[in-house]
Amino acid sequence: MMEQYIEIKSANADSLLFYRMGDFYELFFQDAEIASRTLGITLTRRGKHQGEDIPMCGVPVHAADDYLEKLIAAGHRVAVCEQVEDPAEAKKRGSKSVVRRDVVRLVTPGTITEEKLLAPSEASYLMALGRVKGAADHTYALAWIDISTGAFKVTESAADRLLADILRVDPRELILAEPIYHDPGLRAVFDVLGRIANPQPATLFDSAAATGRIARFFDVATPDSFGQFARAELSAISGIIAYVEKTQISERPPLARPEREETGASLFIDAATRANLELVRTLSGNRDGSLLKAIDRTVTGGGARLLAERLTAPLTDPDAINARLDCVSFLLAETRLSEALRNALKGAPDMPRALSRLALNRGGPRDLGALRAGMDAARQVVDVFSGAMLPDGLKAACEALAGLPKTFSSHLDIALADELPLLRRDGGFVRAGYHAELDEMRALRDQSRRVIAGMERDLVEETGIRSLKIRHNNVLGYYIEVTANHADVMNGTDEAKARFIHRQTMANAMRFTTTELAGLETKIANAADRALQIEFGIFDALLAETVSHADAIRAGAAALADIDVAAALAALAASENYCRPQVDGSLSFRIEGGRHPVVEQALRRQLADPFVANDCDLSPGDDGRNGAIWLLTGPNMGGKSTFLRQNALIAILAQMGSFVPATSAQVGVVDRLFSRVGASDDLARGRSTFMVEMVETAAILNQAGERALVILDEIGRGTATFDGLSIAWAAVEYLHEKNRCRAIFATHFHEMTALADKLARLHNVTMRVKEWEGDVVFLHEVGKGAADRSYGVQVARLAGLPEAVVERARAVLRQLEEGETSGKASRLVDDLPLFSVAAKREAPKPQADAVLTDAVVALQPDEMTPLEALEALYRLKGLV
Ligand code: ADP
Repeated sequence: MMEQYIEIKSANADSLLFYRMGDFYELFFQDAEIASRTLGITLTRRGKHQGEDIPMCGVPVHAADDYLEKLIAAGHRVAVCEQVEDPAEAKKRGSKSVVRRDVVRLVTPGTITEEKLLAPSEASYLMALGRVKGAADHTYALAWIDISTGAFKVTESAADRLLADILRVDPRELILAEPIYHDPGLRAVFDVLGRIANPQPATLFDSAAATGRIARFFDVATPDSFGQFARAELSAISGIIAYVEKTQISERPPLARPEREETGASLFIDAATRANLELVRTLSGNRDGSLLKAIDRTVTGGGARLLAERLTAPLTDPDAINARLDCVSFLLAETRLSEALRNALKGAPDMPRALSRLALNRGGPRDLGALRAGMDAARQVVDVFSGAMLPDGLKAACEALAGLPKTFSSHLDIALADELPLLRRDGGFVRAGYHAELDEMRALRDQSRRVIAGMERDLVEETGIRSLKIRHNNVLGYYIEVTANHADVMNGTDEAKARFIHRQTMANAMRFTTTELAGLETKIANAADRALQIEFGIFDALLAETVSHADAIRAGAAALADIDVAAALAALAASENYCRPQVDGSLSFRIEGGRHPVVEQALRRQLADPFVANDCDLSPGDDGRNGAIWLLTGPNMGGKSTFLRQNALIAILAQMGSFVPATSAQVGVVDRLFSRVGASDDLARGRSTFMVEMVETAAILNQAGERALVILDEIGRGTATFDGLSIAWAAVEYLHEKNRCRAIFATHFHEMTALADKLARLHNVTMRVKEWEGDVVFLHEVGKGAADRSYGVQVARLAGLPEAVVERARAVLRQLEEGETSGKASRLVDDLPLFSVAAKREAPKPQADAVLTDAVVALQPDEMTPLEALEALYRLKGLV
């Protein structure tokens, strides 16, 4: 056995090997050590190998999914090795023969189909990177599938946008040829991806062999029928297919045909921007607090996944965006219809995932049940829509629903029982009345069970033993059981012995059978067995039917997801009071009463003051062809970052086809969105905050075109004041003159507001604050003009800096400001007394303090009545 194990293990060296032994999967050697550590299960030993004990651990087969989940989550891959012949067969070859085993499946993060291992609202993508040498340079492509739903997409990419394209899709696993993985030029990309990147033999990606492999997989003469693909795309597609074949061994998931995503069809959001804007998760990795979480009102898993996909890839074609918005508008207006729709959708199960499991031969009766319920929901949806004047998007979805195979659907209705078992092998999933022989066998089986119950009653009477029972177990089958003290009734006489055949003696019981009971048992077993065989046949027939309708079912499921998203966005718009954006091909960006979708909801939850809405207008002026730049000044905590982000988020929401948090919005489509907000620490990778800031700023200045939207927060904060100011200054000039894009630039360098005199499309705006008794009050209002001061000292005071520090800072500031006007700032150091001296000299009211101390010391709380204590308090207060 060990020989067999070692042979299989060495063919699957990069995976943990789950080696099937009876009811367990066992792991040996290093695999056992890794698994016991990761899963927290006991490590034992079994036998010896080259004189050493073999470490071993095992997991029960019925609970394997839970363990798989943990191992996959910890970044491991698992090879599942099953017995592929009946042990009886092995015995025939000789008593020492080992049962033949084979790896039937490799479980990797990107190829999971188990319901337990999948989050319902998240897609689970496997992605492949293709790269081929072009005329001048390498060309790149990415292909990705969700094996749990069959989605298959492909797009061209390029070295400089590779990371952004990968992170947009956010795959669980990225496979690529080993030589590419080791290309130093791409090191940074794979560093960021970490364990997600999984190098594979280059042969998987061979673009010359690709067309043959793709054609074979889809059973077509040539992949040209799916459209024209570039060589790098073919390489990526072929890599995916080869890897699916490698991991799924003999099974074929029902993948859709690869669908091409045109570059430029979606709004390009670079990796840093995507992370900073916290679209699907926050910077700390949580879903709570992300934009997705704030806007998700979907009621189905498929809808939730589609919403996430749309959010990560907003469109750039105004017509396509408006078509989506039309659907939302329609459903928003038709409240009653929408409600009925959402009720119907609520019951819709995850059809595409059930379909994939079935096609991979991993499905059970409940997956068929899911298809039945899904098609049922589809019928209800069509009913709800019937007679309505639908916008094109919903009409198309409705047509896809109508295209669901009706005969198959009614076949499921009549064939499947109401309550379904999880496993096919348990039987009992076929509805009574569907199959005559099955009904007959079940009747025979159940009738015989009734006969046995009668037999038990007769035997009690015959023997006079009230506690006599007929029981059943898997070893003996049916047997008669009496307690030990009644044994002689059963075997005391020869006559009794002839009638009751002894089977087993237990500590306090004896077990017998009779010829009648044995006869009945055979009848029951045969009937049950035959019934099960018939059910298996029906299951297989339904399975074949499922697979033959795979495309229509997938299209129907996609339509349900589409409708769910539209209805969810309508519900969002209604409950959050969003407006329909006007999206067009202009360079406008005019938001009135804009709000931050996440902060707004958070403030409401905290019962804080409501969010203050703000306008933003970056549209070209009457004379200009290009969009404007807003230079935003204001104190820290004034709401600058919130304002920057809210405008970026509004652009994203508008272009994904959602209503937006504003009273009105006009958005000329943005092709690239850049942001440089907050100081994301990248110290782990050995880059200083300032370096990161500059790298990101460089990317923006090098790439943003006139259709871009750029959000820059506090450029130049990470270095000395004059350096920082100069860099920020030059960056704004460059944005204005070269990039000529729409931008909002937040800064605390007030000096920069002077730029507005020089740059025609630059406008100064500021976060308004009020001063009140020496404190600042943030109004969170964006107004025209420049902040006159930064209020840093006041903010520091609000934050609880010791009063002495605040006072001293005020004094330093005054001196600095005077120094600035008189040009003698350097005198500061000499002029001002040292801090400790100042603290001593400016100590508050020393006299009052002494009196107060004396008074407090004189108090004797234990001796005082509550009233006296209260009076003492008043007295003390009078002293200050
Ligand atoms: P800054 O970038 O200027 O330091 P932030 O944008 O981080 O300021 O905002 C500080 C806090 O002020 C936020 O945590 C938020 O709760 C609140 N805030 C910001 N903008 C608004 C607004 N428009 N209405 C209400 N509260 C706001």
